[in-house]
Amino acid sequence: MEHIPALNRELAFRIREQFGTPCYVYDEVALRRSAAAILAFPNAYGLTARFAMKACPNASVLRLFHELGLHIDASSGFEALRAIRAGVPAAHISLSTQQFPEDGLLRELVGQGMSVNACSLHQLTRYGRLFPGADVGVRFNPGLGSGGTQRTNVGGPASSFGIWHEQADAVAAALAEHGLNAFRVHTHIGSGSDPEVWLRAVSLSLNLVRRFPSVHTLNLGGGYKVGRMPHEKTTDLQVVGQPMKREFERFAEETGRRIHLEVEPGTYAVANAGAVLASVQDVASTGSEGYAFLKLDTGMTEVLRPSLYGAQHPMEVYPADDEPRGEREYIVVGHCCESGDILTPQPGDPEALAPRQFIESRIGDLLVIGGSGAYCAAMPAKNYNSFPEAPEVMIRLDGTLQLIRRRQTLDQMLENEY
Ligand SMILES: *Cc1c(COP(=O)(O)O)cnc(C)c1O
Repeated sequence: MEHIPALNRELAFRIREQFGTPCYVYDEVALRRSAAAILAFPNAYGLTARFAMKACPNASVLRLFHELGLHIDASSGFEALRAIRAGVPAAHISLSTQQFPEDGLLRELVGQGMSVNACSLHQLTRYGRLFPGADVGVRFNPGLGSGGTQRTNVGGPASSFGIWHEQADAVAAALAEHGLNAFRVHTHIGSGSDPEVWLRAVSLSLNLVRRFPSVHTLNLGGGYKVGRMPHEKTTDLQVVGQPMKREFERFAEETGRRIHLEVEPGTYAVANAGAVLASVQDVASTGSEGYAFLKLDTGMTEVLRPSLYGAQHPMEVYPADDEPRGEREYIVVGHCCESGDILTPQPGDPEALAPRQFIESRIGDLLVIGGSGAYCAAMPAKNYNSFPEAPEVMIRLDGTLQLIRRRQTLDQMLENEY
């Protein structure tokens, strides 16, 4: 597999023998490499690099990133608790959420040192009532979006994330009313690799920083695009970051304010450090005018992105024997009784089928689904058709295999039911 060089055929069969399929596999070498690239993000006056943990919240991944020096962006109070349980100090966690935790939990987390970005005027007011005079970050929608698809676009007028930039006066009024000190502006406009778009986002965001003199930190969110397929490009953080850094320098020359930078990638940190290992458990054909189908023992229960967005994941067949084989086009489908459970949709169109060329495949072969480190284990169609949640395995630096989450049992699936 191109993206996880460690996961060769021999190792893949060893993992199946030891842990079964379907199984998530992460590569510590690749996780360390992306963490190092994020921690080297160009910056003029200091950097706090956060991992947007919603992309891959396994405790072992969080602990590794914490050891390497990454802080955490949490998307809910529950995520913040999960990071704390994994050993991340609350002071290293920043919360940007669509749904504020209830008062008790928010008090507990803020009391422990977690910082908060108010993501709506209502959140800002609630925060002000609970913590009058406190420090607060404010998430704005700067009016520019750049999502990979409509559903991952998180800026611009069609997005509900953050406070619309034209409401800065209302923000100032709410801050004043509760004596809050705005220390951070936060923007996160979605996936992109184009340095021009990033530069516009920085410039719009710095305009918001200009509006609030107490702000000393600008958090630009995540959204650095990663190439999963061989023809897709991965963002070069140095290339997008250098012009951004110069923009911070210009801002300092103009205003005398040396703004600290925060970035918080999710996808970039983990996407190509993870794969799903699956077995071909059946084959089907719909005749000469139809398709050949490979049916896996995984699908939307482990990798939902293709069904949701028409996302493309690289796949490779590892044959179970050494007999010579030809090539053939297949539609790869999941194990759910659900016509949308497809792993080879048309790019961006989850409704349409796009056959892909593989070596001729047989029942019992392995199929590796690459680019599955981000928003896969984190975002499954969990327990649909009552398939148990798959285990997660980490290939450690020395090549040893470590189980970092067990396969779910039927009892666990049913434990909250009466
Ligand atoms: C999801 C999210 C991120 C990470 O986005 P990626 O596209 O995975 O890099 C960062 N910040 C916030 C606030 C988010 O909601």
